[in-house]
Amino acid sequence: MSIDLPPLREVIARHGLNASKALGQNFLLDQQLLARIARIPGDLHDAEVFEVGPGPGGLTRALLQAGARVTAVERDRRCIPALTELGEAFPGRLRVIEGDALELDTAALFEGKPHIVSNLPYNIGTALLVRWLSADWLPWWQSLTLMFQKEVADRIVAGTNDDAYGRLAVLAQWRSSARLAMPVHRSAFTPPPKVMSAVVHIAPTAAPEGVDFATLERLTAAAFGQRRKMLRQSVKGLPGALAALEAVGIDATRRAETVSVAEFAATARAMTAPAIG
Ligand code: SAM
Repeated sequence: MSIDLPPLREVIARHGLNASKALGQNFLLDQQLLARIARIPGDLHDAEVFEVGPGPGGLTRALLQAGARVTAVERDRRCIPALTELGEAFPGRLRVIEGDALELDTAALFEGKPHIVSNLPYNIGTALLVRWLSADWLPWWQSLTLMFQKEVADRIVAGTNDDAYGRLAVLAQWRSSARLAMPVHRSAFTPPPKVMSAVVHIAPTAAPEGVDFATLERLTAAAFGQRRKMLRQSVKGLPGALAALEAVGIDATRRAETVSVAEFAATARAMTAPAIG
């Protein structure tokens, strides 16, 4: 869809959208880069997309140009007129909600399953990710395409024996595939943040049977809470955990960073199984 739109710098200047640090505002203005991000979830023609924090609307317009119908939640009221203007260029395809994404019952906004695509405000990125990963499965969303600080992106996609491997990797991978889709240099943002960024793509897969999210969360929190210690030490305060490790055949002298996502899931399943308490 090719529609003539004013350059983003002009939109920002005209609406006085100087970036607010408190709101995690680092804007992306390069249309080619934004178009590449909008391609990561796949064909968006007539697809529903949910975007957190559209700001001046750079990613939003790339998503609309890819043919998506976009629902965007923005907390900064100064951005709403710029987004309203963008909506007028794509009649009936952009719904803008002024509000806090953390306060919103997002799933209720959609009839179908949206792709979630967002250059997230860094201060709430991990909280939103964990919330989306803890949904009833298969979840109400089709895929997640999310910008994180590179260090957080590494923690989401890490494998065993990697320093970045921990609770976030297990929660992101036990019933999803998670991959680092695109590194993004700090200089691509206005203003540039101190660190590098990366876009992560997460697609849900079938959940292993009998594994309870809350149990897995408690198990990984305990195991990685003392990641340099042996499991028999780090999980001993968690009822049923040591017996479950034994039932699954995991040596309790191992450390958490050597335990695969599948092994954590199997242990969590054994913890909730009636025979073990
Ligand atoms: N999407 C734009 C882009 O790529 O240039 C802006 C991304 S900027 C990193 C994050 C955006 O999230 C800002 O526009 C900010 O105002 C908004 N934001 C911050 N906290 C929010 C919240 N709790 N709910 C909704 N939006 C929020």
